[in-house]
Amino acid sequence: MDAKKLMERAIKFHGHSCPGLAIGVMAAKYVLEQGNNFSADEEMVAVVENDNCSVDALQVLLGTTFGKGNLIFLDYGKNSYSIFNRTSEKALRLSVIPGKTGDRNMSKDERTAKILGSDPAGIFNIKEIEFNPPDYAKIRDSDICEDCGEAVMSTRIKEKEGKKLCISCHGRSLGD
Ligand SMILES: [Zn+2]
Ligand SMILES: [Zn+2]
Repeated sequence: MDAKKLMERAIKFHGHSCPGLAIGVMAAKYVLEQGNNFSADEEMVAVVENDNCSVDALQVLLGTTFGKGNLIFLDYGKNSYSIFNRTSEKALRLSVIPGKTGDRNMSKDERTAKILGSDPAGIFNIKEIEFNPPDYAKIRDSDICEDCGEAVMSTRIKEKEGKKLCISCHGRSLGD
């Protein structure tokens, strides 16, 4: 699979070329080369430990997207990606090896080119992990906020002074 072609597709979605996007492209390339197919539904689920540019490459190339609910964000500040395939019941985790994606003396373009020209095993620690994926995305009932009147997912309703409220209305005093 050609890293440059995958990068072009990722740029169309993400908007620009950058080293972060290249990291996500290389992670997605590795996952696709292991016999995993683009996820039209929730066949795959990605658990990502950062919300930087790299995640956009996973969304567009793997089909693990925020909207479908098969992209789970853990705010750990790490360039690590766990991919679970519900069909094969296999899972793997890729984690960027410190110092392997260029240094501060290199320009952004130089770093991007270096990453795209790397072997995945040269930039990621890659290991098979236990298959224990997050649950499927749930469809929940909605409720109506008694202050603003907007529909809210029932699990996000909060009570205050006997009223069922959305989170934004709950955050300010009633009657404002
Ligand atoms: Zn970017
Ligand atoms: Zn409200």
